[in-house]
Amino acid sequence: MIRTGLGWDAHRLAYGRPLILGGISIPCSFGLEGHSDADILLHAITDALLGAAALGDIGMHFPDSDPQWKGADSAVFLAHAAKLVRERGDRIVNVDSTVILERPRLKDFRQAIRESIARALSIDLDCVSVKFKTAEGVGPVGKGESAEAQAIVTIERPAAGGQ
Ligand code: MG
Repeated sequence: MIRTGLGWDAHRLAYGRPLILGGISIPCSFGLEGHSDADILLHAITDALLGAAALGDIGMHFPDSDPQWKGADSAVFLAHAAKLVRERGDRIVNVDSTVILERPRLKDFRQAIRESIARALSIDLDCVSVKFKTAEGVGPVGKGESAEAQAIVTIERPAAGGQ
């Protein structure tokens, strides 16, 4: 059985914070506001994974009111979601994702981000896609007030007793 899950996240830009996307630190004069490391991409992928398995959302598993998650490395959230999915007997098939951020240009970080996500999920690099868009100056992302990420994850449960 094949199932898919959808994830989305948005955080405000904040000066004096590190910009961390997909577990990779991007050299930049600003970062993203948030209780954890504010990694929108890993948050969207974590939500997509949880969604595919109907296991709730990231806020349910890692509430931002919990001091234990202050400044947390979001790879911990993603790895935990992957563990929950595998415990159900599901295999993670692939991840596709998009980061929407006006600047800086991210294409030079694509490979490092893909490798980081593949590592956190223990899946092949070939199964991880990351795309980058700008908002062309429109809306809060376009005006440089926030950044967004979207993700879709496919999981598969081998047929019971089957091949
Ligand atoms: Mg978030």
